[in-house]
Amino acid sequence: MTMDIELLQRYDAPVPRYTSYPTAPHFHAGIDAEVYRDWLAAIPRDEKMSLYLHVPYCTRMCWYCGCHTKVVRQYGPVGDYAKVLDREVALVSGEVPEGPEVTHVHWGGGTPTMLSSEDFTALMSALRARFAFAARAEVAVEIDPRTLTEDKALALARAGVTRASLGVQDFNDIVQQAINRIQPFEMSADVVGWLRGAGISAINFDLMYGLPHQTVELVVQTVDLAVKLEPDRLALFGYAHVPWMKTHQRLIDEATLPGAAERLRQAEAAAERLAEHGYRRIGLDHFARADDSLTTALDGGRLRRNFQGYTDDQATTLLGFGASAIGCLSQGYVQNAVPFGTYAEAIKSGRLAVSRGVEVDADDRLRRAVIERLMCDLSVDLSVLGADLGAPADSFAEELSALAPLARDGLVEVEGSRVHITEVGQPLMRTVCAVFDRYLGTGKGRHSRAV
Ligand code: SF4
Repeated sequence: MTMDIELLQRYDAPVPRYTSYPTAPHFHAGIDAEVYRDWLAAIPRDEKMSLYLHVPYCTRMCWYCGCHTKVVRQYGPVGDYAKVLDREVALVSGEVPEGPEVTHVHWGGGTPTMLSSEDFTALMSALRARFAFAARAEVAVEIDPRTLTEDKALALARAGVTRASLGVQDFNDIVQQAINRIQPFEMSADVVGWLRGAGISAINFDLMYGLPHQTVELVVQTVDLAVKLEPDRLALFGYAHVPWMKTHQRLIDEATLPGAAERLRQAEAAAERLAEHGYRRIGLDHFARADDSLTTALDGGRLRRNFQGYTDDQATTLLGFGASAIGCLSQGYVQNAVPFGTYAEAIKSGRLAVSRGVEVDADDRLRRAVIERLMCDLSVDLSVLGADLGAPADSFAEELSALAPLARDGLVEVEGSRVHITEVGQPLMRTVCAVFDRYLGTGKGRHSRAV
């Protein structure tokens, strides 16, 4: 069942991606290194933890990029950054009580594979030396295929990497030229072969729709090529054109960008094609094979959403390392300073580099849980969840009223306290979640469009 275009245009207002709640525009400087130190010290000894390491360097700028990254031509700054990261690992681990077990490590960027094999291996050793790793901890790395060699794939495997996430976006030449990212299919195929040959068998692909010059036909062609390489999971992201925040996006000719209706058609056509190829849709924008752990997490009600998207990781604490990295603790969110100089100066002088964040209260936790269940399961029973979290029975009376027009338009079904996002409403699930966001419209941030 497809959404009609008039409906889409009516609801296509900018909304957050809800990888956190409250969302990042509501972070403030009141949460600083001192607060973070207290929060770290209070991590329970039996906690499960995830670690996120951010490497904010790339070899060249992709014009669609929405990440915190910087282009460098030489290894010097990257090598210096590795040393600062190592120092930060020592500093942070020194504040965490002994006991919490690391179940998941995620290297993101930027381009983590810009780190030399030696620096990457040394950092992984430092993490293992300073934190207790679970026997089957997942170690995932985001990979720019343009920077990977067979030797580096082998080094990643030796360092314990278990999952690789390849940035692909679109295989078409014209689209690749328009986004300044030339990456032929054969290059991605070689990289997948090297990774699997090295023993890294869990492979994710990131694809995009809504890019300049993309059409439904081109997006479907990319899907068909991508599945030939048999990834376990694919993420299909809509290009977020936010040139007021990311000035390099001004290099993209807006006249070549598909409009809202075309974006929706591209997203739906790609999703249908992935389903034909046997991939299950997971939440908003992920697709996984039937035997993938994301699929089993979805079926078991254990799917989670965090800054890296959808995950089966059940850890309740996320520690972020590197410039701009975000962490999540039971008390709230913290973010390291974004400018590399500010971040490095803090770490080199023996201070934690947190520059902002937000404390979460009971109401935030409740709303975060509602939004996470909607983003993961497309369904939530507000009474059951509220009772689990000790909330008053009528906590969402206003929100249930606000959902009435969405129910009339077929985006949601509401039965008593149970809210279910319909197949028609699935592309607009962020809009449904926004009904539960008490901060929406109160912050400085501008968000990307809903589809
Ligand atoms: S490789 Fe990734 S992080 Fe680097 S510029 Fe391209 S999109 Fe951005």
